[in-house]
Amino acid sequence: MKCRICGNGTRTFLNLGKTPLANAFLRREDLDKEEPTFPLEVCFCTGCALVQLTEVIPPEKLFRNYVYVSSTTKSFQEHFARMAEELTRMMGTPTLAVDIGSNDGILLKGFRERGVRVVGVEPATNIAKIANDAGIETINDFFNADVTKRIVALKGRADVVTATNVFAHVGDIQGFTANVRTLLKDDGIFVIEVQYVGDMLTKMTFDNVYHEHLSYFSASVLVEFFKRFGMEVFRVKRVDTHGGSLRVYVQKKGSGRFPIDASVKEIIEEEKGLGATGLQAYVDFARKVEGVRTDLVKMVTALRKDGRRVAAYGAPAKGSTLLNFCGIGADAIQYTVDDSPLKQGLFMPGTHIPVLSSKALDERRPDYIMILAWNFAPEIMEKIKKHRDAGVKCIVPLPEPTII
Ligand SMILES: [Zn+2]
Repeated sequence: MKCRICGNGTRTFLNLGKTPLANAFLRREDLDKEEPTFPLEVCFCTGCALVQLTEVIPPEKLFRNYVYVSSTTKSFQEHFARMAEELTRMMGTPTLAVDIGSNDGILLKGFRERGVRVVGVEPATNIAKIANDAGIETINDFFNADVTKRIVALKGRADVVTATNVFAHVGDIQGFTANVRTLLKDDGIFVIEVQYVGDMLTKMTFDNVYHEHLSYFSASVLVEFFKRFGMEVFRVKRVDTHGGSLRVYVQKKGSGRFPIDASVKEIIEEEKGLGATGLQAYVDFARKVEGVRTDLVKMVTALRKDGRRVAAYGAPAKGSTLLNFCGIGADAIQYTVDDSPLKQGLFMPGTHIPVLSSKALDERRPDYIMILAWNFAPEIMEKIKKHRDAGVKCIVPLPEPTII
């Protein structure tokens, strides 16, 4: 397969099997129907070092109806409130902020509170409606040239364009970036958050691999990528969302608004140390992933043999990857609980583990709870404190399966 960015050849290093789409939750009446599955394989570009999926699912299939609502999680609300505060402060008196993949308006809300006009772009019809109902003006579409023109015509160009956990979802990031450039004022900034491939390597977060995530970025790759569009990365910050992400700050080249921060060079050096721009680190990573699978399957099998009741907490997309790859299904994990009402009553893709509300933990009293949404582990541990006090143990699957 050819690299999505540079057209060079790629090498596949990780094969997670054929799995259903990670957010394709099932209704009870669909359980007997055949589930479509797609190869989940990751490759490394020998030209530009971009880590990417070999298979691209049409975005209409993935993002038109979405079950992931950002504001479900308190730590996300705080994260995005701080981000809106920071960016507003950086830009002085910005007049327009555009968030691409704006979900329920979680980030834009913070801009609006500071008197900034906001526009969201969100392809999921169900979620764009939630945002619009809450008074966050949201265009229900994919971000494209037409939407860009519409925003510029109606609102003018933007001081700040943001895309958090979106850039990795986009197949045509060239077209996307060209549109962002058009949308931005000459001294505007483009700020993205992407899951960080460096954290994937060090924290073994292979469960961040699912069909929605087409690219797995390092700062090194992004710095070179934006150069091709007359843009420059002027700051890079590590943030802890999704098990480790990068917040990357980009401006038009020649804008001179922000000096190039030392953080850019520092992280590129760090990535050299990790080997993140060479194939070998990924080959080693894939070998360790196999080890995690072996250990987790052994652990769960032993608990089942002892007659322990095992439940899970969270039904995130990453949980689908983990369980489908490990072949751990509803016979091993009887149910999972999730705080999103959109997921409750449905079944996880592939494994068909039922998703219930957290009340189920009171009624069914499991012996073990596997934390599938481990990136929210502290928050979840707090929520299930009474169960832990009553002797329930937690299984944290990554970076290595551990019982707490
Ligand atoms: Zn490439």
